[in-house]
Amino acid sequence: MEKWLSLWSIGQEGTLSDFQAIKNAGFDGIEIWAEQYRSKEYLDYAKQMELKIGIHLPFHDLNLATPDSVVYERTLNVFTEWLETLAEYGGQHATFHGGYAWSSEERDETLVRVKKRLLQLDEKAKQYGIDLLLENLIPDKLNYCHHIASNVEEWLDLIQFANIKACLDIGHLAVMGNDMEETIGKLGSSLGAVHLSDNDGKADLHQLPGEGNNLSKGLHDYLKNIDFSGPVVYEINPYKYSLQDILNHIAKVNV
Ligand SMILES: [Zn+2]
Repeated sequence: MEKWLSLWSIGQEGTLSDFQAIKNAGFDGIEIWAEQYRSKEYLDYAKQMELKIGIHLPFHDLNLATPDSVVYERTLNVFTEWLETLAEYGGQHATFHGGYAWSSEERDETLVRVKKRLLQLDEKAKQYGIDLLLENLIPDKLNYCHHIASNVEEWLDLIQFANIKACLDIGHLAVMGNDMEETIGKLGSSLGAVHLSDNDGKADLHQLPGEGNNLSKGLHDYLKNIDFSGPVVYEINPYKYSLQDILNHIAKVNV
């Protein structure tokens, strides 16, 4: 498996020398955070440093599951533009959120809509040779909106239906309350990437591994069990940690 870094983790003021430091620390690749001010510059820096490239597609103001056709058209256009840009940089995967139903009562009809849209989006991604990775999300605690996918069965059903892959966020999974070993076993060859961070099992804190409930304990063994060779992406809170904190952690654990 490969060690990657989400660029959300480095904040908005990253420099070329930061990317050099990321490379020197042994990271194989980076995941672009599309909503950062300088995500396009970060693409250039990553290319210069010969880091592998993936992307986390934007999600603010976008909703793949929306009943509003104009919002959907906008969402698909923005995603498609990013897929095209990623392909220009030789990118490999695009992690994305499935959007949300406006209310939990609309869940079932929304899932029907999302399935169709996953096929449309995957057709675009395939044109660019990019793997789509649907990420697991934390359920809305009020059960007012329904986030897609925020339970493991729904998530597996969607990725199997559209023949796409999964991005497993282990922090989200802990808050969902699911067992990591069991979930990784169920995902098997559908697993495309892992988002790695720690938390207290209650809130999505994006802490460094070991600073919360130590959620990544056993992760490498579980991934080995399914012969996973893809990216394990550190996705660490930039408002709590600096890039140097992350690099110090990597040096310490030497993985
Ligand atoms: Zn995400």
